[in-house]
Amino acid sequence: MKKACIFLDNNSSTQVDPRVLEVYLSTIKESIGNSSSKHFYGWKSESLLEIARENIAKLFNTSAECVTFTSGATESNNLALLGLSEEFSFVSSRIEHSSIYEPLNHLYQEGRNVDFIKTNKEGRVELNLLKTSSPTLLTFHHANNEIGVVEDFINFKKSPNTLLHTDASQSIGKLPLSFASHPVDIISISGHKIHAPKGIGALIFRSKKVKSKFSPILFGGFHNDDLRPGTIPVALCVALEKALEIAFSEMEETSFILSEKTVNFFTKLSQSIPGLILVGPQDFSKRLPGLLSLSFPNINSAQLISNLANKVAFSAGAACKLEKSRVATEVLNDENLIRGFSRFGISKFTSEEDLELASSVIVENYRKLL
Ligand code: PMP
Repeated sequence: MKKACIFLDNNSSTQVDPRVLEVYLSTIKESIGNSSSKHFYGWKSESLLEIARENIAKLFNTSAECVTFTSGATESNNLALLGLSEEFSFVSSRIEHSSIYEPLNHLYQEGRNVDFIKTNKEGRVELNLLKTSSPTLLTFHHANNEIGVVEDFINFKKSPNTLLHTDASQSIGKLPLSFASHPVDIISISGHKIHAPKGIGALIFRSKKVKSKFSPILFGGFHNDDLRPGTIPVALCVALEKALEIAFSEMEETSFILSEKTVNFFTKLSQSIPGLILVGPQDFSKRLPGLLSLSFPNINSAQLISNLANKVAFSAGAACKLEKSRVATEVLNDENLIRGFSRFGISKFTSEEDLELASSVIVENYRKLL
């Protein structure tokens, strides 16, 4: 069946996996009670919730009390920064998602020490050059949501007194990440980037010792081990667990297929658009699988996106930003390239036919703008 509009914006949100939807709907029916209530219905909800928490902890090699459910990665990132004890300074880059960048600007205005280090022209930071002596939180995405650059972390030698937080919203299910294999201490994740419903995420800590450095940023209840108050949406937590289980178990195959589709899509577009530029890492094996960042020559990409809004859905950067992309501005440093910047996100549900059709529609409409 022909789709009304081809969805190529999977880095801003994704379609719910039918297997996740099934678990979500059945848990909605089973979790009538508030998981904090001390009666039959509360205990039932609590047991569903705690199984999900336990399973998520296992996937990341930590313990259940180190998994704090949130409403999504924006909240996880805010908690990771604003909730950290006052003795800490912060180091980050200017190409982080706004839910990192804006809280850091806020902390800076409050008088805290915040340093933004430079990235290279592909958007990578050289972590091993960082020298910190006082308590410092380093916060760097695992994969960038606009230009697809990946911070590997594996060979990073952290100084003592340093905690490493990573926003892994984009990389989960595409790149391996766990406390056992990576020197990270705190991980932010988001359900709707990995085929779970919107409105659920988590902040996950390496250990209780790391978690003890954090205090709540919201007040009103004692849920989530006192770190994040509010009635816990049990069915969403169970859906997140199911989405993570699928993401981890199918990661190798998914990443392979996504990378292949991304390369083919790029090849199709670049054959018909002379001067089309790949933004971010030039080696596809070093990019986030499924994310294609391009700069279309001699046009304003906002115009192309708007002309195609009912035919092919893609974006000019993060969905949370209305003006021109801060990330593209930082790495491209050329007004014409920034003007033409666009991001395409391919998922496991994107077919080759979708990409074939999308590329011909894009090329045809691009030519009309010249
Ligand atoms: N971090 C990154 C890297 C993202 O791409 C996004 C979503 N655009 C977020 C954080 C925010 O996630 P959420 O929508 O779950 O709040």
